[in-house]
Order: sequence, then structure tokens, then C-alpha cells
Amino acid sequence: TEQRKKRPDWLRVKLPIGPAYANVRKLVDTHKLHTICESGNCPNMGECWGAGTATFMILGNVCTRSCTFCAVATGRPNEYDTDEPRRVAEAITLMKVKHAVITSVNRDELKDRGAEIWYQTVRAVKEASPTTTIETLIPDTKGNWDALIRMIEGGQEVVSHNMETVERLYRRVRPQARYERSLEQIRRTKEYGQRTKTGIMLGLGETTDEVLKAMDDLVEHGCDILTLGQYLQPTKMHHEVIEWIHPDTFAMYKEQGELRGIKYVESGPLVRSSYHAEKHVNV
Ligand code: SF4
Ligand code: SF4
Repeated sequence: TEQRKKRPDWLRVKLPIGPAYANVRKLVDTHKLHTICESGNCPNMGECWGAGTATFMILGNVCTRSCTFCAVATGRPNEYDTDEPRRVAEAITLMKVKHAVITSVNRDELKDRGAEIWYQTVRAVKEASPTTTIETLIPDTKGNWDALIRMIEGGQEVVSHNMETVERLYRRVRPQARYERSLEQIRRTKEYGQRTKTGIMLGLGETTDEVLKAMDDLVEHGCDILTLGQYLQPTKMHHEVIEWIHPDTFAMYKEQGELRGIKYVESGPLVRSSYHAEKHVNV
């Protein structure tokens, strides 16, 4: 209905302008990098890029998966760029980013799921800019646990893996993923000794009980940090917005999540996995 399509006031955001924004734009372009800010049509680009930060997306901009909420192109990737770690590190150094968030597409066609490039990227950033803290938002390694270890052993401070939605909606929202497998990935990441983080989008048709159940599962699997934000439909071809979640409901979820034992819950309409991520290093 029309009512559904109209964005509520609390989702209105500032336009991207200013010199810091232009500098990020230039560095992304000259270093031939991809960002999830652009690929995901993120509503926070004005704020984040304006503050001189961005989330780089490595391993190309074509993904082997076809999550129905995601604007990244699906297909057979042909990019395998061993120089990418160096360019990411250089851009982060030039941007003087204090806390860098890096993510990637899924590379299910690669035996190592892209883990070696992940490792090299974390190492390159640490070597180029030792004081920069790093959050890696890693893909599902499809049960390749050796690949998982390689992705998380480079010295990053936070390892994020997004659950994206509640269990019942996996088939419609993340058709190539498995709820249990993503939980196991978080558990193994925690057991390795890493600070763990995940994100869930709201407004895809989930119920309150299902969100609370996901929180219990996350506590059980050792998840330290949870982000909750409103799902926005990137194009008409993508999953529709079923509900606009009210800011008060987001506040209720923050309280519930922390009561249940998640150390830190970041919850609000405009929250994205990488939004205010610098706060999560010390959780
Ligand atoms: Fe980019 Fe994340 Fe900021 Fe969005 S919230 S603009 S994806 S850094
Ligand atoms: Fe998008 Fe990630 Fe799903 Fe690929 S795996 S379609 S990049 S959300």
C-alpha cells in the first residue's frame, strides 16, 4: 500500500556535502575500491563520508549469492586482485581512519572463500597504520572453518558476521545461507578469542518473539555486540519493506538484548552494521 511505501520522518537524512565527503570520494575512486556505503545505498553516507570514514568492500563487487535485501550484483565474480590489500591499506592511511570497517562479497566459488585476501588486507592495514583499529564484517564461509580462522587471525579488533534476519525468514531473505551455520560461525569466532558482533535488519516481516529468540540464540553462541536497524528496500526488485519499526521499539530491543546478556546493543532506525562502529572496539 501507499502507506507502506512512504518513509517515516525518522528516516530522513542529511544530504552528502562538504570537503571530507569529497576527499573520501576521491580516494575511493583513485584507489579503485568498492564501498558497501555506495553498493548498499546506505542512508548514512552524508554523515559517515562527511566525517571521513567509509566501509570498504573487498574481493570485488560481484557476489556469488543473491540475498533478496541486497543491492550488490549477483553473478560469477572474475576479480581476484592480489594488489587490493595494499590499496585498501593506503586509502585507510590517507583517510587517517582511526577505526576501519572492511567487508566483502561472498566468494563461494573460491576454495578458501577469499580468506587469504582477507588476511592480507588486515595485515596490510595494520602494517601501514598500526594505530588504526579494524572491524572485519566477514561472509559466511559455508562451513569452511579453516577459511574462517584465516579470515580472523590477522589481528583485527572486532569480527562481525551478520545474521541479517530471524530464522524463519532465511529462505526468503538469505536463500544460500543457513541460520544454524551462521550461528556456528559466530560461536567458533568467539572460541578463537575474538570480539564478536552481528547485525539484524528489522521490518522484513519478523515478529517480536522471533527477534527475542534470535537474541537468545546469539547469547548462547557468544555474540558480544548486536546492531539492529530498519531495512530499506534498495530497488523495487528487492524484498519489500513489511513494516516501519518505531524508534521506541528499537529502544525496547536494546534494553531486551542487554538484559538477555548481549554486552552491547546498538539499535535504531538508521543503525547499520558499520554505523558508529568505533564504539564497539572496547566492548
Ligand atoms: Fe558506509 Fe556504514 Fe556509514 Fe553506511 S553506516 S555510510 S555503510 S560506513
Ligand atoms: Fe549481498 Fe552479502 Fe548477500 Fe552477497 S552475501 S548478496 S554481498 S548480503
